[in-house]
Amino acid sequence: MHSLSLRCFGTGDGWPCADRNHSAFLYRFEPTTLLIDCGEPVSGRFKAAGLNYDAIDRIFLSHLHCDHVGGFFMLMQGFWLEQRQKDLTVHLPAEGIAPIRKLLQAACIFDELLAFRLQFEPLEVAVPVTIHNVQVTPYPTTHLASLRQAYHAKYPQDFAAYCFRLESDRIRIGHSADLGAPEDLAPLLERPLDLLVCELAHFRSEDLFRFLRGRPVKRILFVHVDRHRWNHLEETRALAEKMLDGIPFAFARDGEEIRL
Ligand SMILES: [Zn+2]
Ligand SMILES: [Zn+2]
Repeated sequence: MHSLSLRCFGTGDGWPCADRNHSAFLYRFEPTTLLIDCGEPVSGRFKAAGLNYDAIDRIFLSHLHCDHVGGFFMLMQGFWLEQRQKDLTVHLPAEGIAPIRKLLQAACIFDELLAFRLQFEPLEVAVPVTIHNVQVTPYPTTHLASLRQAYHAKYPQDFAAYCFRLESDRIRIGHSADLGAPEDLAPLLERPLDLLVCELAHFRSEDLFRFLRGRPVKRILFVHVDRHRWNHLEETRALAEKMLDGIPFAFARDGEEIRL
């Protein structure tokens, strides 16, 4: 039996992609199933996967960029219409809770219509969330730090973004979501990882590969690869082979399922 299945619903970056969906990753650690990020068209990908509408135990939203939350509302409309029964907690940056609630209300997705209880919980730095046999620990990234610097005076919000460590008794995974720099991964790498799911868009490939070289990571799956690197994937692959010093790696494609 496998300890983990990861289904890549969307491996594209933040730019409009003709050949990839936006960020959404379904992690199944029997018996716990987690969805990280809700890039569109996650509702359609979930339906196509043929999964039960009660399958997802929790949803984690890493940050509020549209390529990570743009499909959330249609997913909730689907959970309403398909009559999901199991209560659902969505973990997300605190500043997203009130506006998401408001938009659900404006979309007439009222709590009273739902056959399940929908709750929102703010992510807290280094505070693990336990779901059955799995612990999810969020750590902050500097993904939105330059926007904070430029716009905080006018838009005094948190500019929060998180990466995650996912652990069961048998397996440990790092999920980068969107970073500001490779160094944001440091807390995830404090413990050996069976798999690192890592973005490749917001820094130079060389800087990431140099940072990861020699780290206790058994395998890397690159996701959220930006358009330029995606169009020149063989160059990036050659560089990774040269610099990662034997850590096995792959570039994820939509619909792919990874089992460990
Ligand atoms: Zn993104
Ligand atoms: Zn982002």
